[in-house]
Amino acid sequence: MTTIAANLQAVRARIARAAQAAGRRADDVVLVAVSKTFPAERIAEAYAAGQRAFGENQAQEAVEKITKLEPPFSSREKGGNEGSGPLLLPLEWHFIGPIQSNKTRLIAGHFQWVHSVERRKIAARLNDARPAELPPLNVCIQVNVSGEASKSGIAPGEEAGLAEAISRLPRLKLRGLMAIPEPMPDERLRRRRFALLRELKEGLVARGYALDMLSMGMSDDLEAAIAEGATMVRVGTAIFGPRKKNAREQQ
Ligand SMILES: *Cc1c(COP(=O)(O)O)cnc(C)c1O
Repeated sequence: MTTIAANLQAVRARIARAAQAAGRRADDVVLVAVSKTFPAERIAEAYAAGQRAFGENQAQEAVEKITKLEPPFSSREKGGNEGSGPLLLPLEWHFIGPIQSNKTRLIAGHFQWVHSVERRKIAARLNDARPAELPPLNVCIQVNVSGEASKSGIAPGEEAGLAEAISRLPRLKLRGLMAIPEPMPDERLRRRRFALLRELKEGLVARGYALDMLSMGMSDDLEAAIAEGATMVRVGTAIFGPRKKNAREQQ
């Protein structure tokens, strides 16, 4: 077994244990393997070990890998085509990084999910750039649940306004909320940040939004996130190993 296959197995086991401890089903939690900074070959290796959803935080870097690993959407056959080799099978791509205006076309054309929407203008640009032949782009609103310490995401309380704006964009499908809480040594404090995101999502559901996703939890805190209701965990280091120091990191 390759290291990546073994790591994936260990992460899946952690997810299953955390889900069980919370009285949830393991398959209610989607594992997004965060492959940023790693080459397409490592993604193919994870694919061979059964992984389908991958997260990237830089549009240009991601699209280079995507075009290496997949045929263009337009030439894909509908349904599964198992057997034609890992490099030609459709993977599911999740954009999880800060979004610059000039990258919205690239993102809207290549990803199925965007977790990091935090501005109306960016939402509108993603909507306008989403190719007509593709289904609506699944999006989550990123919320800054840690206050000052983290730069990305809207402040808690601003999600209703942004949700309203997104719901009027026909080429976007609002699915839920995402957060990257600052690292916390204290388990109770960690859980409180995740609980806040869950409560904000419940508030939107009470207002009539059909949201089914809470994107929260990474290599170091996925257990706490699952305990508070995460339906997507974004895990990089625990699958692919440590990233190079000079790799640009978001926060
Ligand atoms: C890099 C990154 C991750 C993965 O973090 P790890 O600690 O390596 O698991 C998750 N979410 C976002 C938004 C990231 O940028």
